[in-house]
Amino acid sequence: MPQYEFFCHACSKPFSKTLTLKEYEEGGVACPDCGSDDVEQRLSSLYAVTSKKSA
Ligand SMILES: [Zn+2]
Repeated sequence: MPQYEFFCHACSKPFSKTLTLKEYEEGGVACPDCGSDDVEQRLSSLYAVTSKKSA
């Protein structure tokens, strides 16, 4: 299962969560720390295939 990166605005903490596609599509991701659903999805490392590196 893919792991998604999130950031909680309520407690200003990033967290990662493994979701099934169904769970992901349904949304409703809550912060595991404070339980708030005021979370923002961050780009997962799955998609960071090409990164800008000067070397
Ligand atoms: Zn939180």
